[in-house]
Amino acid sequence: MNDDKDFLYRQLDGLGQMIADGLADEPDGKWIRQQYRETAIALGIAKPSDFRKPRTNHSKQINTFMQDRLKNVTCSYCNGALEQTRSGALRAKCPKCNKVFILGKYRKTSKTRKR
Ligand SMILES: [Zn+2]
Repeated sequence: MNDDKDFLYRQLDGLGQMIADGLADEPDGKWIRQQYRETAIALGIAKPSDFRKPRTNHSKQINTFMQDRLKNVTCSYCNGALEQTRSGALRAKCPKCNKVFILGKYRKTSKTRKR
């Protein structure tokens, strides 16, 4: 009788697992969160507005992102290696030149997302 919902619950569970495994943070994993959101809304256990709040702590994702960026970006003055200024920051500093660079196009959840 409730096959549809049953399917959705299983899907939600599977997607939640993928998010927990970090697959949704892969470059091609965006669909996972999107699907998760749509499924949760379809089940009535979440409202679209639940997903509009920016998450309070992005540090972990930012640090992962920065670690990656720091491998590819060097100081534009001396070509030396940069260091993240502090945990959770999108800024990197050249210890030699004391120059600060803002790295990357990391975006927080957009408030004005097009639908
Ligand atoms: Zn430098």
